[in-house]
Amino acid sequence: MLEVAALSHFYGKHQALADIALAIGQGEIVAILGANGAGKSTLLKSIAGLVKPAPGATIRFEGHHIGELPAHLIVERGIALVPEGRGVFGDLTVAENLQLGAHPARARAGEADRLARILRLFPRLAERMAQAVRTMSGGEQQMVAIGRALMSNPLLLLLDEPSLGLSPLLSREVFRALAEIRSSGLSVLLVEQNARASLDIADRVYLIESGRNAGSGPASAMKNDPEVQRAYLGKA
Ligand code: ATP
Repeated sequence: MLEVAALSHFYGKHQALADIALAIGQGEIVAILGANGAGKSTLLKSIAGLVKPAPGATIRFEGHHIGELPAHLIVERGIALVPEGRGVFGDLTVAENLQLGAHPARARAGEADRLARILRLFPRLAERMAQAVRTMSGGEQQMVAIGRALMSNPLLLLLDEPSLGLSPLLSREVFRALAEIRSSGLSVLLVEQNARASLDIADRVYLIESGRNAGSGPASAMKNDPEVQRAYLGKA
């Protein structure tokens, strides 16, 4: 459903992405592993239309070229980004944050059903609809951010470090939710510092080093790759 080819991005003279290629099929969880500064966030932002790819890139979603579209039209095509640091509105309530996610035209039909599904996915949010988001824990805020993205009725969810700073318990809850999201037919592109958890949940994995593709394969095979074990799983 998503195909990326020859994707490069420059911040001034610094090349953050160099000729990246990747593909995601419907209902897949694809994980991106890479060291700090490898370009993972820039890759997600390029797909979401928040940074502009260098000329020559192809980003095709559901058969349409989306590489030139502004971010809000990419959301209308069905791609939602949960940014690093969550980007929730702390002074607004949970209900208001979720409501903001339903702004795109594609989100209007079926909004009440979608909200009900999100509250089943994250029962903790159902109990706290009137609470200001800034008073919630990091994990709860991450649930709000994921819930808000789901309110836009996406086909593909892009997640930037969803478990960053979360307790192991809440991290597990976020990963459990991702598995449920996939089983409802959505696709997920996941950038995670928790390599072990992302290898456990992903169908396929891409490695990125210094902005370049450095390998890819089924998660089950990557877990047993000595290089992946050394670089990402802390094994000697
Ligand atoms: P991390 O895991 O540390 O978040 P990352 O793999 O997501 O890293 P990016 O945030 O995509 O990496 O950054 C890739 C490179 O581009 C880094 O060298 C970073 O310093 C640089 N970079 C990112 N954003 C900007 C910016 N707005 N201006 C200039 N350079 C940037």
